[in-house]
Amino acid sequence: MFVGHYGPALIGKAAAKQVKLWHLFLAVQLVDIAWAILIILGIEQARIVPGFLEASDLDLYHMPYTHSLVATAGWMLFAMVAYRLRRPTAGLGGAFIIALAVGSHWFTDLIVHTQDLPLMLDGPRVGYGLWDNLLLSQIVEIGIVLLGLMFFLRSTYATSNFGKISPWLLSAVLLALQAYNHFAPPPGEIKIMAAMALVSYVLLAYVASLTDNSRAAR
Ligand SMILES: [Zn+2]
Repeated sequence: MFVGHYGPALIGKAAAKQVKLWHLFLAVQLVDIAWAILIILGIEQARIVPGFLEASDLDLYHMPYTHSLVATAGWMLFAMVAYRLRRPTAGLGGAFIIALAVGSHWFTDLIVHTQDLPLMLDGPRVGYGLWDNLLLSQIVEIGIVLLGLMFFLRSTYATSNFGKISPWLLSAVLLALQAYNHFAPPPGEIKIMAAMALVSYVLLAYVASLTDNSRAAR
């Protein structure tokens, strides 16, 4: 899953107004940020297999440290402690919402991934495989984002003219990246794909910060 992960980030902002939206944007993708780095370092492994699933060319055959359920629990704990220490003003509630955002990644991945998500470090592997159906997976994934956007719009208001259009700018960037992800030909090298993913996570966090700064909590 790609943009669907941002639905929980937008809901998290509605639940914890003191937490910056771009922190939530990085939190929901923390596991994938770590994945991209470990792929580039050659510690986790995946390969590009065109047509592997109708909506994904990725054969993610070895990702125990980022995408196992047990590792996700570790990432949640790490993020909660780090956020509590680095952003004490966000309170324990803010750190808890960050941890939930990190954990949401695994459960949203679970919907679309084929059986490649290990429960423990080396299995058993689970995944409901919605990526087998391009249309259905996109309806679900974009639906999750729209749900998050609804929460965000209802819990904030524009503080400038830009604030009136910024949520739609964010949505447009999300949709454009989602379309690119599914319809552009994949790069030939998995490490290039991982580097491109890192760039897109940073870009989306930046657009999220612009959006957040142009709106205030109701
Ligand atoms: Zn993932």
